[in-house]
This record gives sequence, structure tokens and C-alpha cells, in this order.
Amino acid sequence: MPTLFEKIIAREIPANIIYEDDRVLAFRDISPQAPHHILVIPKKAIARIAEAGEEDEALIGHLLLTAAKVAKENGFAETGFRLVMNNGGDGGETVPHMHLHLLGGRPLAWPPG
Ligand code: 5GP
Repeated sequence: MPTLFEKIIAREIPANIIYEDDRVLAFRDISPQAPHHILVIPKKAIARIAEAGEEDEALIGHLLLTAAKVAKENGFAETGFRLVMNNGGDGGETVPHMHLHLLGGRPLAWPPG
């Protein structure tokens, strides 16, 4: 059963896509928690970072570098941004397809809730 994000990759569900290449997709979160709230996901179906393997090292590096590139290209890298990956129930994960939250455009509090 494909996840919600697999359906977005397949264009079965619409999304505001702002970057795509052969390995990753970036699109705006439907419920933004900051002026810029972008999800960066691998096209490969990996449920969460804890399920990733050594064979995914390069992909995960590409995911991180893509997030930084998207922040730069959208004009909020200079003021700062945060990358978050929720893993499992206590981590706040709700969609079982690994994704990076890229948040920026306002000061973000620390520690997180
Ligand atoms: P998680 O809670 O798993 O870390 O993050 C899932 C994220 O997906 C949430 O921030 C949620 O707002 C976002 N989301 C859920 N459904 C959709 C959708 O249909 N479209 C988009 N663009 N984002 C979604």
C-alpha cells in the first residue's frame, strides 16, 4: 500500500513541488509551521531513518545537501533554517516515508516541544 508521499511522487496527489531530481523531491508542507516549511523526501520508499541501511548513505547525504540548496535558492539560507527528521511515535512521525522538514523564515525556538 503506497504511502501519502509515494502518491505525491507519482503525482496521484497534488503538492506544491519546488525541486525534483532523479533521487529526491521537495514540496511545501500542507500545514506550515514557519514561513518556509518544505519537506525533502527520497523517491526510494524508506519508512524512517532508523530503517535506512548503509546502502542509503549517499542518498541521505544528497537529501541533506538538497535541503541546504533549496533553502539557498528560496532565499532564506542567510537568515538561518532548521532541518528536522521525526522518527517513530515519540519523534512525532506521522507519515511512514522518510522526510526532512526544512523550516525557515522566522526565528525558531530551542529546545523543541
Ligand atoms: P511527520 O509528522 O511525519 O514528521 O511529517 C509529516 C508532514 O507531512 C506534516 O508536517 C504534515 O503537515 C505533512 N503533510 C501531511 N499530509 C500532507 C499532504 O497531503 N501534503 C503535504 N504537502 N504535506 C502533508
